Amino acid sequence: MMSKKALVIGSGFAGLSAASSLAQKGFDTTILEKNSSIGGRARQFSDSGFTFDMGPSWYWMPDVFESYFKRFGKSVSDYYQLKRLDPSYQVVYGQNDGMPIPAEMKELEALFESIEKGAGLQLREFLKQAAYKYEVGINKLVYKPGRSLSEFASLKLLVDVIRMDVFQSMSKHVRKFFRHPKLIQLMEFPVLFLGALPQNTPALYSLMNYADMSLGTWYPEGGMHKIVEGMGSLAEELGVHILTNHAVEKIVSTNGRVSKVITNQGEFTADVIVAGADYHHVETQLLDPKDRNYSDKYWDNRVMAPSSLLYYVGLNKRIDGLLHHNLFFDTDFAPHAHNIYTDPQWPEDPLFYASLTSKTDATVAPEGHENLFLLIPVAPGLEENEEIRDRYFDMIMTRMERFTGQALKDHVVYYRSYAHKDFKDDYNSFKGNAYGLANTLKQTAILKPSLKSKKLKNLYFTGQLTTPGPGVPPSLISGLVVADEIEKEHG
Ligand SMILES: Cc1cc2nc3c(=O)[nH]c(=O)nc-3n(C[C@H](O)[C@H](O)[C@H](O)COP(=O)(O)OP(=O)(O)OC[C@H]3O[C@@H](n4cnc5c(N)ncnc54)[C@H](O)[C@@H]3O)c2cc1C
Repeated sequence: MMSKKALVIGSGFAGLSAASSLAQKGFDTTILEKNSSIGGRARQFSDSGFTFDMGPSWYWMPDVFESYFKRFGKSVSDYYQLKRLDPSYQVVYGQNDGMPIPAEMKELEALFESIEKGAGLQLREFLKQAAYKYEVGINKLVYKPGRSLSEFASLKLLVDVIRMDVFQSMSKHVRKFFRHPKLIQLMEFPVLFLGALPQNTPALYSLMNYADMSLGTWYPEGGMHKIVEGMGSLAEELGVHILTNHAVEKIVSTNGRVSKVITNQGEFTADVIVAGADYHHVETQLLDPKDRNYSDKYWDNRVMAPSSLLYYVGLNKRIDGLLHHNLFFDTDFAPHAHNIYTDPQWPEDPLFYASLTSKTDATVAPEGHENLFLLIPVAPGLEENEEIRDRYFDMIMTRMERFTGQALKDHVVYYRSYAHKDFKDDYNSFKGNAYGLANTLKQTAILKPSLKSKKLKNLYFTGQLTTPGPGVPPSLISGLVVADEIEKEHG
């Protein structure tokens, strides 16, 4: 018997994961990717002896990756080697005030205790609760397709959901345990990954603190792109055809089904289609208005996760005082947050993040050099230009020079910036968002854009704008969840 054909649009984590899972289920699967290389927001580039991961840099939740490869009879170590970072990262609170976060729990508790009396034990209790949320959240909830409330109808799960502080904010939850501003900032930082403020993020997501502090920060030798390469190799081993430089221009429907997709390199037909490109792009640019799930107004009312102003920088010297991951929390976040979420504008004095993978990996920069990845979270939809990019670069390099006490600007031998326009050009990103849709309470589970088309029987969606949400582990899970739904309905 002929296999059913599946087409997957986009080769980000979600697309690669959906494709591998569909191939494993017996579908003859093809990925259509517009760019010349796979990985989407997690692509990598090399120039002038430096190698940069373009997007994600934090490897959290190693168990999710392990269980991903295990589904296919493989292990992470078949594709890449992991190293746990210790210290996990450094938080810069001000001049001469950098705080490395130890990987070892005993040392971490002692650090908390040294900042606030009793905070060591409080941390233990906080992480005990967070461990429970992680167990239920990551092992049960994120694998729900979010198509109906009935998925959450089991009594046990309902009890679990209530116990998980779904209706309390992360901000309140953290303040029940800690008073010192440094500890509050440290405990609130991981939810920024979810694209919303701690005040608007359910305390369920303290599971991110468990991921951070208990499960640890890891690094795949060679960079985050090793995950993409591993997932790409696995997909090909499973028989997936990966076609790069194939931009989908139109999804054509007949009688309530997708009949074909038109690309810049010809037409493709399939029994089932998974759209792993940005949901908004697929809806508004690829589908006819009659086939869309949502109106323009719906999209305008979504809370998008931030965009990012990024810099990929090569320095011709080593820098002391910085670690692999550094969070510059040396300015007040409130006005910056206001300019991301409430009144979208370029911030006056933003916090930022600096990553130097060359601290851990000799292959990413020439000897005696350092590669530097800088990220400023900013509102999606802002107008930007070279002058703005240069201004912020100068501003944050000055802050790093001040903190490290070393000249840096004079040692820049490679420079590339990246912002809204690039996100739109490269990924068809809505408003130039970096991390998709924010994980607010009103945009959780069944309240997210649906993973199945309501109009076309054989069209599904995956990726960071649908369930379960933004981030590498959720995107990868999104692909698995959609493939399971397809198997139920078309297998
Ligand atoms: C700067 C940055 C830093 C981040 N940091 C972290 C981190 O440290 N840790 C973490 O876990 N997560 C992080 N994230 C989030 C994480 O990278 C994303 O959530 C994840 O990569 C999204 O995967 P995806 O498959 O949903 O989307 P994408 O990676 O965007 O994949 C979509 C794919 O569709 C393709 N496409 C678009 N339109 C078309 C078309 N018309 N035809 C064909 N193909 C098309 C795109 O080219 C792209 O390859 C970060 C993201 C960014 C941008």
